[in-house]
Amino acid sequence: MAFKNLAERLKQRQELNLIRHRRVVSGPQDVNLCIDGMPYLAFCSNDYLGLANHPLIVKSFQDAANHYGVGSGASHLISGHSVEHHQLEEELADFVGRSRVLLFSTGYMANLGAITALVQRGDAVFEDRLNHASLLDGGLSSGARFKRYRHNDVGHLSTLLQASSGANRLVVTDTVFSMDGDIAPLSELAHKCREHDAWLMVDDAHGFGVLGDNGQGALAEANLSEVDVPVLMGTLSKAAGSSGAFIAGSDELIEALIQFARPYIYTTAMPPATAAASRMSLRIIKKESWRREKLRYLIQYFKTKAQSMCLPLMASDTAIQPIVIGDAQRAMSISQGLANQGILVTAIRPPTVPDGSSRLRITLSANHEEEHVDHLLTRLCDLMQEMDKAGA
Ligand SMILES: *Cc1c(COP(=O)(O)O)cnc(C)c1O
Repeated sequence: MAFKNLAERLKQRQELNLIRHRRVVSGPQDVNLCIDGMPYLAFCSNDYLGLANHPLIVKSFQDAANHYGVGSGASHLISGHSVEHHQLEEELADFVGRSRVLLFSTGYMANLGAITALVQRGDAVFEDRLNHASLLDGGLSSGARFKRYRHNDVGHLSTLLQASSGANRLVVTDTVFSMDGDIAPLSELAHKCREHDAWLMVDDAHGFGVLGDNGQGALAEANLSEVDVPVLMGTLSKAAGSSGAFIAGSDELIEALIQFARPYIYTTAMPPATAAASRMSLRIIKKESWRREKLRYLIQYFKTKAQSMCLPLMASDTAIQPIVIGDAQRAMSISQGLANQGILVTAIRPPTVPDGSSRLRITLSANHEEEHVDHLLTRLCDLMQEMDKAGA
């Protein structure tokens, strides 16, 4: 007997042409990827600084595996909390200028854990409509009253806060929005939250390592302290090129998460070698500012060039540079056409983005060169013109 309506739901997805497929990568993560034995020039990873396959980080991982083995053996609260985890937490707290840091195995778990530990029934959580799924899931499963405000609309948030009777109020936003690349009005949000006695939590998955003079992230760039933004989440899986995530904030916040955050408590600690790799990555993030500078240069180069070719850019100054196509099928065809020419750009379709706003999500890395950008934009323009001519 089949599980009820699973086949039907799959068929529906199929009919909408929204079935997703995985590509099998058989080499290291870089701007040149090997997939099914074929080479591709890739513009889709979150490895913004080109650290995922950095030899010193790889070496730290290997050395730590030799010393600690592979598995951490248990959760942090049992016997899995190694000195590598502990030192990484201290180094991260120092780096982002917060009292304390708590490591999580993934960013998804950090968001779920922090939100569900902070708010409950009787409280209220306010989220930007375009927040990452992990933030929305955290809000929805917390039991708190869940409100979404219009994208980056501080006025709308203010109205909702005013009308709220929640005992504790938590406002949650991405810093850099993962599908649009724009940045939240962080200072205004912080100000509004203090005015309404609410806490602000930000997810800096796409800012950490990239924004701020030394890569401390979006809050450093906006000059916002622990008082302004009590809860800071960052990932080690994107610009840091490693894996895992962290929450940074006051001693009281971190202590509360250790006691109450279920995705922290009831899971095995990340391998110590992963923490060791992240520690090396942090050192490189601080030291090699040329990576941030090169990325910034490439973003500007991409934007100028794309504008001169009349490609519809979005209002983004970050490494996430979406080109809006609109129709999901057309976005897929362009993505497929580029793949046929050895260029990898993901088409992002509903339900990840709203209907009618399907896009090519181009991401840049410090490991890209100008020629790569030139090649991408030339091919993309040719392809779009051919499709227009064919009436597609
Ligand atoms: C990727 C991402 C996450 C999840 O982080 P993982 O470490 O991949 O689980 C959370 N928030 C945002 C905004 C992200 O882009």
